[in-house]
Amino acid sequence: MTISKRLLQHLSISHLPGLGEALEKKFNNLGIYTIRDLLLHLPLRYEDRSSFSPISNLTIGEHTTVQGKIIKSEIIFSKRRMLVCTIQDNSGSINLRFINFYPTMQQNLAIGKWVKAYGEIKKGKLSLEIIHPQIQIKATPQEFDTLETEKFTPIYGATYGLTQNIIRKFIHSSLTLLKRNPTPEIIPEKFLNGFPSIEQALITLHEPPLNIDIAQLENSNHPAKQRLIFEELLAYQLSMQLIKSRNQNHQAVEIVVKNQYITPFLQALPFSPTNAQTRVVKEIWNDMAQAKPMMRLVQGDVGSGKTLVAALAALNAIENNKQVVLMAPTEILAEQHYLNFKQWFDALGLSVDLLTGKLTAKQKRNCYAELEAGKTHILIGTHAVFVEHVKFADLGLVIIDEQHRFGVDQRLTLWQKGIKDNYYPHQLIMTATPIPRTLTMTIYADLDVSVIDELPPGRTPVTTIVLPNTRRNEIIDRIKQVCLTGKQVYWVCTLVEESEVLAAQAAEVTYVELQELLPNVAVGLVHGKMKPQQKQQIMQDFKQGEIQLLVATTVIEVGVDVPNASLMIIENAERLGLSQLHQLRGRVGRGQAASHCVLMYQAPLSQVTKQRLQVMRDSNDGFVIAQKDLEIRGGGDILGTRQVGLADFKVVDLIRDQMIISHVQQVSQFILQHHPDAAIKLIDSWLPQRTKYINA
Ligand code: ADP
Ligand code: MG
Repeated sequence: MTISKRLLQHLSISHLPGLGEALEKKFNNLGIYTIRDLLLHLPLRYEDRSSFSPISNLTIGEHTTVQGKIIKSEIIFSKRRMLVCTIQDNSGSINLRFINFYPTMQQNLAIGKWVKAYGEIKKGKLSLEIIHPQIQIKATPQEFDTLETEKFTPIYGATYGLTQNIIRKFIHSSLTLLKRNPTPEIIPEKFLNGFPSIEQALITLHEPPLNIDIAQLENSNHPAKQRLIFEELLAYQLSMQLIKSRNQNHQAVEIVVKNQYITPFLQALPFSPTNAQTRVVKEIWNDMAQAKPMMRLVQGDVGSGKTLVAALAALNAIENNKQVVLMAPTEILAEQHYLNFKQWFDALGLSVDLLTGKLTAKQKRNCYAELEAGKTHILIGTHAVFVEHVKFADLGLVIIDEQHRFGVDQRLTLWQKGIKDNYYPHQLIMTATPIPRTLTMTIYADLDVSVIDELPPGRTPVTTIVLPNTRRNEIIDRIKQVCLTGKQVYWVCTLVEESEVLAAQAAEVTYVELQELLPNVAVGLVHGKMKPQQKQQIMQDFKQGEIQLLVATTVIEVGVDVPNASLMIIENAERLGLSQLHQLRGRVGRGQAASHCVLMYQAPLSQVTKQRLQVMRDSNDGFVIAQKDLEIRGGGDILGTRQVGLADFKVVDLIRDQMIISHVQQVSQFILQHHPDAAIKLIDSWLPQRTKYINA
């Protein structure tokens, strides 16, 4: 058995019978390319559809399966066009109602066919009904899928055009393939106590038998799930440790402080660095003076002044005739950094350049040429623009701002761009995501950590107010007053869906409303769907005070720095995670003035949500908030690491699974010492894209 067969990882899903190009694209949209990806697309939950109820016995509100023959099927027109189909068993009849339907659906739901339907029983106008049930249609009742009567039915995360039935079908054939090509065991026997094999774990997770403890499976405590969590976390830990130890052998240019630019820069600065900034900068300079590449993470709460630390690291490299690149997660932030650095560095005669998507082809070529000729001292941009063409004459330092928005792999890719004659650039990584230490040591296991644990002096903490949106009028009055005093205001619109298109629409509506309600206030609008140039103009106008009230989506979440803004209103604050709220709130309270943040919510709030908003009211400290967030979440209401933006795992949720971290760290040490080949195989199986940094 070769490694490539492990979990069928290198086999494209297009090998599955019946999976054509169109379907392949849809699976790709879910991030599923290989059979392994598909097998690791685990169900979100399960339903028991093993037995169906006689129609006459149904009760309103229950989720259940019914089965019957179609006796009527028609399109009706009330407020909207809909398809209503009546099915009958030998006890009674029920309606199935579809508000969104394809033309072919009516043909499929022809009179005389048999339907098995699952959903919530509701009371319709004339009879019981199910709206948008999950359905299967067959010519005779004998043809129904027997899987559903023998197993729990898994429910998967789906996407437009990929139904549950389709996903289930291809997972079923992948499992069949897996049974024929079992996965060799890599993990030493003694660490596998109580765990099923990988195949068995996957079969249990996708097709659980009816006698299983389904609650245990759903809350991830089942050995089948634990097996996968353990393996993925172990692979991640091994990869980070190997990257770190390989790094010890890499060479870097020693960069020693010369104070040529640093001294005049500090003299011109209108304030002096805080003690914490000074300490962290010293740690960085010390790293850069070594003959091996720095890999340092700077953690500092929002507003702690990470940009200044980055500037002092950059100047050190530039003084030593090295180039610097700074990567930011959003265009707004990249542009803001550009303006900031330009203002600081122009005075020193240094060349700062910005690379964003909005440049014309000619401007881009120009930018690449200057960079390659070594004329650019520091290049600032978003990840999207660091493409193939970008070549540095002599890159000495890579800075990544707001790392939690990037994956580990993006960071490593940029780093590799700077390798020259086997010399590696130094890396400085900055993040405001306040996470507990154990998690830091896992996610950033390859990095040394410095913490800026002090805010610049003279800040007044932001006062946070929690209000229902029925008190909108009072808030409008408040905005008027604040603008009259010459201060500025953010109004943040949020949405449940992660859709910047819908968020942009919502923000546009609010923008129009607020303009009408506040005729004497200059209102601006910024969202992710705008052209970069437009965005930049708006942000600049806001910074210069020409816009008093800025209506925005969460695009302003990271990095934006306008000290004159002293009031922020967050609409539907209950929809956001605490760390996101904390990041947003960090946009105010950056100047001397007392600042306020209003968390507006839509009543009624659940007990947990009330508690969470309370935490925001009680604390301004990112670490305290993160810790409380974990405590409140407990077992149930899990937002997940992905949402917090920590790392891109397939099965692991670091917050949920944190209690196994220390065990995994021990196992990982043991494997590295005694089974180094197993380490490589595990990494290749879970993080194939990462092996290149380890073999490098
Ligand atoms: P963050 O850590 O969130 O990236 P920034 O670097 O944007 O924070 O800094 C926030 C604000 O604090 C900026 O306006 C910056 O000019 C200011 N600032 C940074 N360091 C100091 C300092 N030592 N004293 C006073 N103000 C500072
Ligand atoms: Mg910042």
